[in-house]
Amino acid sequence: MKEIILAKYGEIILKGGNRVKFENILLNNIRNSLKNVAEFNMRLAQATVYIDVSDSEKIDLVVERLSKIFGLVAITKAAVANKDIEDIKRVAKEYLEPDFRDGLSFKVEAKRSDKQFPLKSPEICFEVGGFLDDEYPNVRVDVHNPDINVRVEVRDFGAYVYRMENKIQGQGGMPIGTGSKATLLLSGGIDSPVAGHMISKRGVTIDAVNFFSFPYTSERAKEKVIELASILAQYTSKINLYIVPFTEIQLQIRDNCPEEHMTLIMRRFMMRISERIARRNKSLALVTGESVGQVASQTLAALDVTNSVVDMPILQPLIGMDKNEIIERSREIGAFETSILPYEDCCTVFTPKHPTTNPQRANIERTESRLDVEALIDKALEGVERIEVFPKGN
Ligand code: ATP
Ligand code: MG
Repeated sequence: MKEIILAKYGEIILKGGNRVKFENILLNNIRNSLKNVAEFNMRLAQATVYIDVSDSEKIDLVVERLSKIFGLVAITKAAVANKDIEDIKRVAKEYLEPDFRDGLSFKVEAKRSDKQFPLKSPEICFEVGGFLDDEYPNVRVDVHNPDINVRVEVRDFGAYVYRMENKIQGQGGMPIGTGSKATLLLSGGIDSPVAGHMISKRGVTIDAVNFFSFPYTSERAKEKVIELASILAQYTSKINLYIVPFTEIQLQIRDNCPEEHMTLIMRRFMMRISERIARRNKSLALVTGESVGQVASQTLAALDVTNSVVDMPILQPLIGMDKNEIIERSREIGAFETSILPYEDCCTVFTPKHPTTNPQRANIERTESRLDVEALIDKALEGVERIEVFPKGN
């Protein structure tokens, strides 16, 4: 008996005249993500990608990869039958044998998208359900609350049988590469990886920038950021990570500016430098992980002070989320355990005891003007290191 994977896409369906373009990007992303995993054939019809994996032992690994591809909304393995009711019955019987254990109940649902098929959906249910009921006296039919939901689909290329319970949810969103590029300010914390995931889910390619304060922050802190980028890359494919040396800027701020302004001036430098890196790499926006009121530097007044130095859109997808919601997302994407590793971040090393919560742009600008902002930015940019980060597990 042969098993293949059916992967259904979501929002692309709304794309009208551009649909084929979006479909091709999705197929390309799937090809890329699977190229080191298994050999396979793939085709697309009726908003569903059919993936036929040559080595059946690799099929679960392929499903796991597909579950991280933006654009797909549902993924399931299914047994393949000919478009012939007797063959469908035969395949269903064999496929369900391991699941039909004593005392369980089942129900058959059918969908006929090939209208040439001689039996209508209710007739398919009746035929297949009756047959399974006869063949397996140890199980019974229950149409209201069955243990096992059997699904039969008669489609263009063939007929398919699977258990609804085995169908998994995809990531949703739009395929990466359909939505330009943005640059993520990636710290070692919980929030920014989630922010990156949310924007890339909309089809946006992501570059990442990290500010690093050697020797105040350790090599392990850097490895942690690379690890987070590689977790994110599981969803986006390879990520270019730019590591910016930040120590000199931080020391200059510490030595010349009031302590309570320290964080905000640091954040302004981060935004400016990120914008430069973004423009060099044809990124059209910055992405950061703030949520209103989470800390002193994320009040609306503080966001005004930090965001005003940049002249490109700043995407802050977590802006209205609670910490608990962000943590839940972080767990879902598999970043949480890495994010909470206790290595110091460039900001934690230089945190003021009493940061201002209601800062005025003019005041910050005045104290910041004691520094040679442009020269410091240029110097930091000279020291940027680029790392190509590949998906974790590849
Ligand atoms: P996170 O959990 O993402 O670190 P946070 O709640 O600690 O966020 P802040 O430290 O105020 O928030 O930083 C706000 C945003 O600024 C972060 O979400 C991130 O996008 C960016 N950022 C902060 N520190 C760095 C850094 N060292 N390198 C790159 N980006 C940073
Ligand atoms: Mg942080």
